[in-house]
Amino acid sequence: MSSNYIGDHALVMGGSMAGLFTARILADHFARVTLVERDQFPEQPQLRSGVPQSSHTHILLLKGQQILEQLFPGFQSELIARDATWVDWINEGLMLSPSGWQPRFPSAFQTVPCSRPLLEWVIYQRLKTIPNIKIIENAQVKSLLTQAEIHKITGAKIQFKDSNHSQELMADLIVDATGRQSKLPQWLKELGYPTPPETVINSFLGYASRCYQQPQDFKADWKSIYIWAKPPFDKRGGLIYPIEKKRWIVTVVGNNRDYPPQDETGFLDFTRSLRSPVIYEAIKTAQPLSPIYTYRGTGNHRRYYEQLSDLPDGLIALGDAVCTFNPVYGQGMTVAALGALTLDQCLREHYPQTQFPQQFYRQLAKVLNQPWLMATGEDFRWPATEGGKPNRMTKLLHQYLDQILALGVKHPKIYQSFVEVMHITKPAYTLFHPEYILRVFGRWIVSQEAQEVAVEDQPIPKLVSESSRSR
Ligand SMILES: Cc1cc2nc3c(=O)[nH]c(=O)nc-3n(C[C@H](O)[C@H](O)[C@H](O)COP(=O)(O)OP(=O)(O)OC[C@H]3O[C@@H](n4cnc5c(N)ncnc54)[C@H](O)[C@@H]3O)c2cc1C
Repeated sequence: MSSNYIGDHALVMGGSMAGLFTARILADHFARVTLVERDQFPEQPQLRSGVPQSSHTHILLLKGQQILEQLFPGFQSELIARDATWVDWINEGLMLSPSGWQPRFPSAFQTVPCSRPLLEWVIYQRLKTIPNIKIIENAQVKSLLTQAEIHKITGAKIQFKDSNHSQELMADLIVDATGRQSKLPQWLKELGYPTPPETVINSFLGYASRCYQQPQDFKADWKSIYIWAKPPFDKRGGLIYPIEKKRWIVTVVGNNRDYPPQDETGFLDFTRSLRSPVIYEAIKTAQPLSPIYTYRGTGNHRRYYEQLSDLPDGLIALGDAVCTFNPVYGQGMTVAALGALTLDQCLREHYPQTQFPQQFYRQLAKVLNQPWLMATGEDFRWPATEGGKPNRMTKLLHQYLDQILALGVKHPKIYQSFVEVMHITKPAYTLFHPEYILRVFGRWIVSQEAQEVAVEDQPIPKLVSESSRSR
């Protein structure tokens, strides 16, 4: 073992986003890394059954894209080489917020959107080239191995698909990245450890998504469209998300159990019923390339491992296995990437101290708090939301953010701050800059300014000028 490594072997359970990012990080710290995935990774970008959400729009926030470029240099160029394109989300995207059409202007909010299968495939290809990472496919982790007297998880038992063959893998550190369906609480219980407290907050949001080919003669001054729902009454939202090979993923969502339908006519009718018909107008003559996929398991679900003092050494979890968010806010992959960076930092600072898992979960909780508050806080706007009720502070925050968005319609700087917080490139307190607080109070006092022109009567903003690509 090279003296640069802090351990001999690390094991990652689950090979989706969180697992891939984690394996990349662990390869810097352990002599050997094994990643176990129950699916077979496809040879080309394709849907696979272990990540049923892959058929839906997967927005990679700017923060996530920056981290991926840091972990896998040249990653954005690889997406471009696969026929994806840059998008300036402010200038080249139409955004209809509850306060109206947000302004457009050239910005640094540029990413290379693509399909979720392509994103995973590009990262997987890069991981395969890292010499100390071994990938075991078609193998499911069935249980954990332990050495009770030293209070440590020492390995995992895996079972190969399509055979009765199983294997025990021993490791210094094991990471659970098996996603929403993680069995970790159950496994901990079976081994006599306490299970984490859990919170589920569900606004009963449904997704329906379909892939389209952009019409050949299609001309527009936008590359993406995002139409928000407007709580509490206007439950429907949708987006056009540009992906590789001049295709769009069109996703419509219905909050508060207003689930979008899966049949062709119903899907198009739902799209037409959004607060603006622009998405419907764009897709009505476009060529569908996929069935209509639906998804309803969108509740926010957090497991508070940081609250457990009695955790075995040698095992941690991250990604959706710890915290899933209502996906409509596009945070899951970026937070998984932030979780992997948190692990990197903790390995540098705390490993192999006893109570490493506690150290890690404490840091991870700090990363999770902002996106969690953002997603659940927004979900509390819907009357059908279960799992808690908004307190006075949440209601006040709703009113404050409404004013910020309304101000953003006329003040690009404020809108830009809002986008920075949404993309997790700036902390939420950015929106509480004294200048913004004063403006919000000004609007509250001069209440007539709150009388906005009805959204339907507002002109759709135009592209300001070509966005310059800084990369
Ligand atoms: C409808 C929908 C839309 C979404 N949209 C966005 C978006 O726009 N932007 C965004 O950032 N995020 C989005 N997300 C969230 C995003 O998909 C996840 O946050 C992200 O994939 C990270 O999840 P993960 O890697 O922790 O788990 P998952 O993606 O759930 O992957 C878990 C992996 O573990 C494997 N596995 C499970 N059990 C075992 C086992 N026992 N042994 C071996 N392997 C196992 C599975 O096969 C799978 O590969 C969306 C989610 C949904 C449901």
